[in-house]
Amino acid sequence: METNEKIRNTLAFQTSTPVNIKGKPAKRFMSVYRTVGCAYNQCTMCDFKHYADPKITDNNLIEQHKQSLKQLKEGKYAQFDLLTLGNFFNDHEVSPKVRKHFLQSLAKIKTLKRVLVQRFPF
Ligand code: SF4
Repeated sequence: METNEKIRNTLAFQTSTPVNIKGKPAKRFMSVYRTVGCAYNQCTMCDFKHYADPKITDNNLIEQHKQSLKQLKEGKYAQFDLLTLGNFFNDHEVSPKVRKHFLQSLAKIKTLKRVLVQRFPF
């Protein structure tokens, strides 16, 4: 596999932190998916474009998601922040097919109480 393809199959960032859900301490896992980049791309303070790749495909995103699922299936996390390098609801950045796959697979993880995604009004 080419190095670039390996990178396309790898999340841009992941981390875990404490979180509070309805007054109770819990753990949050956060993944930032490497996408084709933000369609808006106008914010001068934003460096997300440096992590994006215009050749990212649905299959690359599904491969990245496997890394998140591996962590989430351990059952330690009540919240998952599913972040992208832009807008989760922009069809050019994340296709409806991939959005559906992400959400259906997350719905099977019973320890998850909350899933957060990013939406911008453009
Ligand atoms: S990812 Fe967010 S902050 Fe960056 S250019 Fe797009 S809208 Fe702006």
